[in-house]
Amino acid sequence: MSFDSPLEPLPHAEPVVPDTVFLALGGNLGDVRAAFAGALRALEEQTDEPVACSRLYRSEPWGERAQPEFLNLVARVNWPGGVRRLLERCRELERAAGRERASESRWGPRPLDIDILLAGGMMIDEPDLTVPHPRIAERRFVLVPLLDLVARTRVLPGRMVTLHELLARCPDTGRVEPVSDGPWEAWRIDTAGDKPARDRS
Ligand code: ADP
Ligand code: MG
Repeated sequence: MSFDSPLEPLPHAEPVVPDTVFLALGGNLGDVRAAFAGALRALEEQTDEPVACSRLYRSEPWGERAQPEFLNLVARVNWPGGVRRLLERCRELERAAGRERASESRWGPRPLDIDILLAGGMMIDEPDLTVPHPRIAERRFVLVPLLDLVARTRVLPGRMVTLHELLARCPDTGRVEPVSDGPWEAWRIDTAGDKPARDRS
């Protein structure tokens, strides 16, 4: 028996609104700030909607420990299309930043990684796309910036637990330190190369 309604929804059914998506950006190879800036600008241009950014963080490598520290942030994007299209877009942006998946090790150094953390209240479980991202609860470098942008009461879709509780219970003890005081805004004005990368925040 099918539970799908055989009829179209009525005209005053809830409107189809763009989904609020939270993306985790990370990287530790080359000019990571420039890679972040390029991706955030491209997303804002493409969606024609403001992108909101967490603080910028510096974090200890996770998974493979012997590699340079990472920069991380979380961005909130109003994405008008499907989530699979967004995953493709994220891969394009990773490639534009010089990422070559074929030649890297799992959780090894990379110029830009973009993960889809949350897409509205959606739950997707497909071989190459799981939303909410399956490793949110294990990663302080994801939870800390995500909590810059969500209410403390926000629940992880599919689990009776708030994101805030997940951080309190997170087994990861890796150091995650803010590099910018407030939201990272440098991506809007970054002209790449006017100052050494380490002096920019
Ligand atoms: P990680 O996701 O642990 O950071 P990678 O960035 O190397 O590791 O991604 C490995 C694979 O995870 C990608 O090939 C991608 O298809 C898959 N994947 C599954 N769910 C997601 C998601 N929500 N966001 C991004 N990638 C995802
Ligand atoms: Mg990824």
